[in-house]
Amino acid sequence: MKIKKGDNVKILTGKDRGKSGKVVNVDFKSNKATVEGLNIFKKHVRPKRQGEKGEVVQVFRPLAVSNLMIVCPACGKATRIGYAVDKEKKTRICKKCHAPI
Ligand SMILES: [Zn+2]
Repeated sequence: MKIKKGDNVKILTGKDRGKSGKVVNVDFKSNKATVEGLNIFKKHVRPKRQGEKGEVVQVFRPLAVSNLMIVCPACGKATRIGYAVDKEKKTRICKKCHAPI
């Protein structure tokens, strides 16, 4: 998994294609990431008790990681990630400007 919580990502497919946002949650099991403010779906909640009103809540649906591209904080471009290994420490780097991410 190349994407981490807190990363800025760009969405490549779907209705929010081309938009970017911050990763708020990563699900390693399903290879999906939830991006803040994107891929919003409205969920209708039925009233639980009589007299209560039903509500519409907004839910951020997770997106497949393969449909996301990381946005490099140094050059601001959507990029692929490379790794630089330095004395057993692995650093993620931007493939375009080689800045650590
Ligand atoms: Zn870069």
